[in-house]
Amino acid sequence: MAANKDIWVFTEKTALLPELIAGARNLAEQTGGKAVAVTLGPRQAAEKSFEMGAHMVLWLGELPPGRLVEDAVPTLAEAVRTAQPFGVLIGATTRGRAVAGRLAARLGTAALTDALEFQYTNSGIQVKHMVFGGGAVRIDRPVTGPFLATVGSGVFEPLPQASGTSGEIQTAVWIDPPWQAVVVERRQREGSKVNLAAAKRVVCPGRGLKQQEDLGMIEELAQALSAEVACTRPLAEGLNWLPRERYIGISGAMIKPDLYIGIGVSGQAQHTIGMNESRVVVAINKDRGAPLVAQADYAIEGDLYAVVPALIRAIKAHKGK
Ligand SMILES: Cc1cc2nc3c(=O)[nH]c(=O)nc-3n(C[C@H](O)[C@H](O)[C@H](O)COP(=O)(O)OP(=O)(O)OC[C@H]3O[C@@H](n4cnc5c(N)ncnc54)[C@H](O)[C@@H]3O)c2cc1C
Repeated sequence: MAANKDIWVFTEKTALLPELIAGARNLAEQTGGKAVAVTLGPRQAAEKSFEMGAHMVLWLGELPPGRLVEDAVPTLAEAVRTAQPFGVLIGATTRGRAVAGRLAARLGTAALTDALEFQYTNSGIQVKHMVFGGGAVRIDRPVTGPFLATVGSGVFEPLPQASGTSGEIQTAVWIDPPWQAVVVERRQREGSKVNLAAAKRVVCPGRGLKQQEDLGMIEELAQALSAEVACTRPLAEGLNWLPRERYIGISGAMIKPDLYIGIGVSGQAQHTIGMNESRVVVAINKDRGAPLVAQADYAIEGDLYAVVPALIRAIKAHKGK
């Protein structure tokens, strides 16, 4: 197993870094090691890791022009081989998954995907993580080290930021990857910068919605409730009615709001794994046999085209009192 007890974190997604650092801190307290942020990008961003709770930073520098995030794997692999941390938590993004797989192959260790919980005992680490696209949860105990795990947003709560905190920054020497893929063009993806993981109330339409125009009614309900609009995956990938950042589930956002309202959502496991920590779940569905209805605290059986306008009227009337 690993020579030291440090927990490293790596993600190219700035919004996820505070959550991963919080998770690493928690785990490092159990192992008796340090939380180390491994960062790629401007040095000022690396320095910010201390305010998020990192004990130490390993700075990989700026990504060279024409390079992809996964091109940092040889540099990262060399750093892991040298320092032998106890484990590495990697952001479960598209790029992060590519990094985890390649890193695992290079280090001859396993990458556990979509981790939900870590438990450290004297005999090692146990990782509870999703398998079969979120259809099941499995507990694994890695027998070779360092353990690698991908972690999505919403699994750990960020720590309160402590401004002005600083610490040791080590610099890694960039190792060019042997493969030849280069970036030839970058285009900004259209989409919102919504942070669903932080939302207190979420209104989530599903395929029960007949047409894109009907999202207007959903937005009106969200506005009346001061809620964020999310969706199921088919609405964001396939129908393309909403940006991909807005879908909830195993391959989307993980949320823990006080209130989640599923409107015309069946409640398949790949979706509910992303919202089943919501405090209060409301399902609006014409089918009382839909799995989300069984999981809901409150279910309204009926046609959403009658229920949603009635809800909007009732909320507005209540606010007007
Ligand atoms: C590998 C993999 C990963 C996946 N990842 C995700 C993921 O991250 N997130 C995700 O959401 N999905 C994911 N999926 C897809 C998932 O399996 C489901 O297909 C999807 O969640 C279903 O979306 P839905 O509930 O909107 O649609 P449906 O399952 O079609 O449900 C529509 C619901 O609307 C109800 N309805 C219809 N009309 C009305 C009406 N007028 N009034 C009231 N109710 C009505 C129906 O009774 C039904 O319950 C994934 C699938 C795979 C294979």
